[in-house]
Amino acid sequence: MHFPAFDDFYQRILFLLPFAANFRSTDFDYQAPVRWQNTYPACGGSDQSPIAISARKVIPLSLPPLVFGVYDEFFDELVTVSNNGHTVEFKVPTTIYGVRPYVTGGLLQDCYEAEGVHFHWGSPVSKGSEHVLNGRRFDLEMHIVHRNTKYLTFEEAQENSDGVTVLAVLFKVVRADPTFYQPGLNEVFSSLLHLGNFNSSYTVQERITLGSLLGNLDRGNFYTYKGSLTTPPCSPVVQWHVFGQVLPISHLELPKFWQLRDRLNRPLQKNFRPLQSQENRQIFHRQPFVPLQQEQLQELIWL
Ligand SMILES: [Zn+2]
Repeated sequence: MHFPAFDDFYQRILFLLPFAANFRSTDFDYQAPVRWQNTYPACGGSDQSPIAISARKVIPLSLPPLVFGVYDEFFDELVTVSNNGHTVEFKVPTTIYGVRPYVTGGLLQDCYEAEGVHFHWGSPVSKGSEHVLNGRRFDLEMHIVHRNTKYLTFEEAQENSDGVTVLAVLFKVVRADPTFYQPGLNEVFSSLLHLGNFNSSYTVQERITLGSLLGNLDRGNFYTYKGSLTTPPCSPVVQWHVFGQVLPISHLELPKFWQLRDRLNRPLQKNFRPLQSQENRQIFHRQPFVPLQQEQLQELIWL
């Protein structure tokens, strides 16, 4: 017996499956990241992230600062944070000026619009940043993911080597009152207790700006290198910016990440990818343009 509507339904599902796998990449976990490449070949390819950054081995480079467009303007709606089974994330809404925050400047040739924010963390007994800085792994790492506006969708950006830039902020746990710190981050951290179960989401109580997630971070001090997404499909299309200054997170806030659960109701902990080989890639450390001192000017005049 034949059910045309039923057949049609299944044909659609079969047609859509490869796209779903490509775009959603939900079928991975952190038990054996080395196996990601069986399904996503780029994960076993070149230019992978994260990497270890050592201040002694980086190349100092005089660069203009990053420009943070409408980063410090309020979003036009409250952000909704969700537990997707791999991390907690929120999609970046437009600001009150009708556009999303963006970055350009530094080594970037184009304008990159903020798409989403998510985190990587460890467990009660291990630290969980993805990047390692000067031999240290930190407690938490925040990623603000941006799409090159040359490309209309994130999927299209993922197909192009200049498609994505990510700002990475490292956090170190401190024994202090959380209210001293970044107001935007406090909103996100306080949503975590509502996000224990997979697929749960929570709308924060206060309007925030994207810039408020950076607190008083020195936005001019960053390492930059060419790498990849750190989750499948591991596309090697990311210009990374890892800030040199490490932000504080209260010892009362950090454990809120550890109580999250994944789609199989297991603890969602240690959601960081192991370090990848730097290969022959260069890591640059931005040096601000330093105006010449009076004595240096004198020397130049006498030369
Ligand atoms: Zn990430």
